Amino acid sequence: MDIDTSRLLVLPEWGGKYVINEAYRPIAEALVKKYPELRFKLVDEILFVDNTEDKGKQKNKYKNAQIGKIPEKYREIITQLTGRSFSYIMEFYKRNIETMSREQIIALVYHELRHIGADGDIILHDIEDWANMHYKLGPDWASTMRGIPNLLDEGVDWDSITGPSLFNNLEPDNLEQPRLRAVK
Ligand SMILES: [Zn+2]
Repeated sequence: MDIDTSRLLVLPEWGGKYVINEAYRPIAEALVKKYPELRFKLVDEILFVDNTEDKGKQKNKYKNAQIGKIPEKYREIITQLTGRSFSYIMEFYKRNIETMSREQIIALVYHELRHIGADGDIILHDIEDWANMHYKLGPDWASTMRGIPNLLDEGVDWDSITGPSLFNNLEPDNLEQPRLRAVK
């Protein structure tokens, strides 16, 4: 029997605070394949982890996810333990994203992938979010109850997304222009 070495083996029912969750990987892979601005992101180098306890509170904002580099010491240790090389941890604040739609999770993975710069370092947003997400999905894409586009749907790309008002009901409230405001 062939062993698929590309699959990460994890304990199936780990009850701890940090839970490796490979379910995000195919989303990240599909996004990298689809969007040229993500083409240098090495999804193989990312460990996807749910933080099942923390609320991600920073000042008065709640983070939904974050990405960071794994310190060299732990990188080497993980490589020895798994035979795999991981440079980044993408961490999801499970309690904050539980009620998100699939489309919002996909947008969130896109958002975090953008934080990996071309040279591999973690980079910061152009504004408080990535400008294309802010203007095309709306400043509240992570918290809104309205639908947002599925970035992985065929035919959906940034150029074809014309702004959040298109996706709203035609209620006056929903037609206001996006304003600059913090996403997270
Ligand atoms: Zn961010």
